[in-house]
Amino acid sequence: MPVFPKYLTKEQEDELRQIANAIVLPGKGILAADESTGTMGKRLESIGVENTEENRRKYRELLFTSDPSISDNISGVIMYHETFYQKTTDGVPFVRVLKDKGIIPGIKVDKGLVPLAGTDGESTTQGLDGLAERCAQYKKDGAQFAKWRCVLKISPNAPTYQAMLENGNVLARYASICQQNGLVPIVEPEVLQDGDHDLETAQKVTEQVLAFTYKALADHHIFLEGTLLKPNMVTAGQSCLKKNTPEENAVATVLAMSRGVPAAVPGICFLSGGQSEEDATLNLNAINTCAGRKPWALTFSFGRALQNSVLKTWKGQDDNVKAAQEELMKRAKANGLASMGKYKGNVHSAAGDQSLFVEKHTY
Ligand code: 13P
Repeated sequence: MPVFPKYLTKEQEDELRQIANAIVLPGKGILAADESTGTMGKRLESIGVENTEENRRKYRELLFTSDPSISDNISGVIMYHETFYQKTTDGVPFVRVLKDKGIIPGIKVDKGLVPLAGTDGESTTQGLDGLAERCAQYKKDGAQFAKWRCVLKISPNAPTYQAMLENGNVLARYASICQQNGLVPIVEPEVLQDGDHDLETAQKVTEQVLAFTYKALADHHIFLEGTLLKPNMVTAGQSCLKKNTPEENAVATVLAMSRGVPAAVPGICFLSGGQSEEDATLNLNAINTCAGRKPWALTFSFGRALQNSVLKTWKGQDDNVKAAQEELMKRAKANGLASMGKYKGNVHSAAGDQSLFVEKHTY
């Protein structure tokens, strides 16, 4: 008879399950505020603010010091290393500010994309070296979950078997290391919106990518109840001429998820991937209202779709902080409702309809 050594104790499994379930409680989702220094620079540049450590700190302070009632809809925040160790102007660590609000601190642990040689511009994600030590330190310093982003693209030559196999495997190795160190891994295999492919193609590719991902997670004995998935919603390519309704996107998304994501996974937290704030919320709402088998929580882990109106309102001015925080509250509430299928499309944000698509987006 084969013997499978257990690598997590019952206590470790219980802790991971409890963290994952807390993140996807009804009406709640994640604020992805883990833009790398370069990506944050582009966001700040768009509002005419210089990309200095102090300006990045001020912006994140704005996000994290919003009204405490934000925790009704935001269960967790993903941070970049620099942000994780920053403090408010009054010297309170951001991790403490979040915990005091009942928000779970999370950390991005990957080190970005690198090209896969011999492919048509495909990539894998690096950062496994020293990951166990980094995870142990982040856990000690208050993180309860982690994120690692892999990217797949759709083109006549992609995604390749090589890219799907490699990205599935690296996500599984990351997930294993996180779990051994008490962090819930958010597994993110993002299929980019770039391209003119139709909805059916996006669905098929998403299904294939999920199949490779969960085969690799099974091969690495990942404790699925202590993980979360962060996928793309299934939508047609950004330059596809046919535009689909939220209901069509929702049916394709739920079908792909039901074919590829084991029922043991407690929650699916979608990324926004360049959709406008309002489109992302409407699609999430339709995902929750459409028919289909849905054994997991279906919620959000949005970056751009929670922050665009905030940035456009703030503009780097202290006088605008309060108004910008109100924009964040509005989007958080709208997405909280959408995660329960109760959003009526009646929230008007400062820049809610603006497309947030960035070609070949890096994080
Ligand atoms: P977007 O919602 O802006 O796509 O980002 C989410 C994220 O964390 C990507 O890794």
